Amino acid sequence: MNHDYIIERVDTYPLLYRLEQPYGDANGYKAYRSCFLFKVTTRGGMEGWGECIDWLPTLQKGFEGRVIPYLLGKSVKDRTQLVNTLKKWHRRAAAGVSMALTEIVARGAGLSVTDLWGGKVHDQVPVYASFQSYSADQGWADRSLYRLERALSEGFSMVKVKVGGRSYEEDRAHIEKVRSLLNGGGVGLAIDGNESYDLATTRKWARELDQWEELMWFEEPMPMKLKEDYKILRRSGYSFAVAGGENLLNANQFLQLLGDGAMDIIQPDVQHVDGVDTFRAICGLARDFGVRVSPHTFDGALSRLYALFTQACLPSWSKMEGEGSMIIEPVEWDVMENPFNRLVPIDVKNGKAYIPDGAGIGVEVYRELLDAYRWDGEVYR
Ligand code: MG
Repeated sequence: MNHDYIIERVDTYPLLYRLEQPYGDANGYKAYRSCFLFKVTTRGGMEGWGECIDWLPTLQKGFEGRVIPYLLGKSVKDRTQLVNTLKKWHRRAAAGVSMALTEIVARGAGLSVTDLWGGKVHDQVPVYASFQSYSADQGWADRSLYRLERALSEGFSMVKVKVGGRSYEEDRAHIEKVRSLLNGGGVGLAIDGNESYDLATTRKWARELDQWEELMWFEEPMPMKLKEDYKILRRSGYSFAVAGGENLLNANQFLQLLGDGAMDIIQPDVQHVDGVDTFRAICGLARDFGVRVSPHTFDGALSRLYALFTQACLPSWSKMEGEGSMIIEPVEWDVMENPFNRLVPIDVKNGKAYIPDGAGIGVEVYRELLDAYRWDGEVYR
């Protein structure tokens, strides 16, 4: 047995940042951003990083009491078995562990994660600027437009804004201003309802949206459990795409959407499913069903990197090259105030993320941030 791959230690890095100005979506405002990174080290000195999202006290306690004692002394090469056991206790911890162990296996072979997976098909993957449009003050719409302008000046050519948190009329007024700012300049627009509407209100939106050339998709207008209503919406003759699935947990749940023809674009999140391997399998399934896949990834820079790796390894969606075409679907890019976006530095230029080539994840975690934002252990809400 090669002892180099035996897990010797796991260090956790719970990080918290309290927002001065909370922002949010139809589900409410975020008062803080958090991040839970951890580093797995083997006897041979190989390191791999994992990330998961949940309330930090829950994660810290779970890691100290159960996840770390379980992992110590196990072989990284048994990733599938380890992740399958962990997911019975805490699905999100399992997702993070799957990242760390994948990185170590890649490093051990001297390969990048994408090489381990069979090689990149795309050296760059488009990303869209993702906004949390609401804030509690009267000036929320102006604030939203200001952020949008900034993202456009940074070169993003795809953006996503929120609806569903205000009245239909107030949201419409905001979206019209967004559209004026985009001004038919070739910037793609997605709107996200965060499951706020019933079918009747979704149809009210749909009649408007169907005229908008720039609309990339309407995301989760209705609760995802209303699969029949999604099927009705898609069969109503509208030509815009319907997207969703960020909170689904496994391939089985995605299969139901895919098999029923309820979605044009699925949006799995690497932190919400059973790990990196399941995530990749779901993205591959979308290709088998002829459905687009645009990964959801709003809660962590390491997870976002794994979403980019996966997308970089997917076969092209479209054969059409050139201006305005989409060879590979975009990945979400959090542009809100969140220092943890810088933890895993990725080169983004003109709305495209360049996929690192080095061994493992190919980038260094920005360790100074780990000290600067370390959670003090205080219970927060
Ligand atoms: Mg969403």
